[in-house]
Amino acid sequence: MKFQTIAVVGAGVMGRGIAQALVMNGLDVVLIDVDIGALDKACLEIRQSLRMQGLFGKDSVDVEACLAHIRCTTELGHAAAADFVVENITEQPDLKEPLYRRLDEVCRPEVPFAANTSVISITRIGSWTQRPDRVVGMHFMNPVPLKPVVEVIRGHHTSDDTLDRARAFLKQMKKRAVVVNDLPGFVSNRVLMLTVNEAVWVVQDQVASAEDVDRIFRSCFGHPMGPLETGDLIGLDTILYSLERLFESYNDPKFRPCPLLRKMVDAGLLGRKSGRGFYNYQ
Ligand code: NAD
Repeated sequence: MKFQTIAVVGAGVMGRGIAQALVMNGLDVVLIDVDIGALDKACLEIRQSLRMQGLFGKDSVDVEACLAHIRCTTELGHAAAADFVVENITEQPDLKEPLYRRLDEVCRPEVPFAANTSVISITRIGSWTQRPDRVVGMHFMNPVPLKPVVEVIRGHHTSDDTLDRARAFLKQMKKRAVVVNDLPGFVSNRVLMLTVNEAVWVVQDQVASAEDVDRIFRSCFGHPMGPLETGDLIGLDTILYSLERLFESYNDPKFRPCPLLRKMVDAGLLGRKSGRGFYNYQ
């Protein structure tokens, strides 16, 4: 089972990482976003990241040859050419639902839809389509080109055949799957979002600075990054939206977003992607 043309919908932090990982493995990408600026930024960052490959002791890649495999568009209709779809748009059901309804009309009925959502139930996403058996969760880790393992989520209706296709697709990307069952947040983000949120509460309550919180996790627990650096890497807006979804899914106050997190998002302090979050990246 081989896939050649992949529609990557959403060209933000995750979409561009997935597009890069795909073209580095010889696949063709149709990269789709509603925002032309996001597509331009994605191409620029993919080019820079491909150039850096050689510098970090990895095999250098032919940058222009890789970029020739990416076609950027704001037209969702171009997803019709795809034999596999990976969706990575903003973590808001109000945006994702109409997108899936439209993708369902545009794409051939047998084409699998991989939802790279942080927390939204895959069974719920499947219910927005006429192909719930072809919908699978594919939670990539950031930065995608460097992370070998993907959390794959089996929705209530996801078929064995779709899981086989998901594994085959990931193999083409030289990645491995850990398959888990479907409840909001799955494994990684049901735990991680609580940790990041609690670290923000610690800063809000002036127990410690962001630097000291992260230093404790790095030097005492051996984590490569502390929770607030991780929040900045993921995007504080994505953290906030994920906590809101977890809160409404479980009706459990343990997921209530910290007011400081909401304030930072309102102020445009989104982390690395905006140049400033708990740390300054400018
Ligand atoms: P992002 O904000 O960087 O990018 C989202 C992109 O989606 C934007 O460019 C936006 O213009 C685009 N978009 C919004 N609505 C659209 C539509 N209808 N059609 C096409 N494009 C549309 O977000 P991100 O960090 O790349 O996250 C994308 C998804 O991946 C989210 O569901 C998120 O929860 C999930 N995710 C994020 C991470 C992470 O570390 N950031 C990790 C795993 C999964």
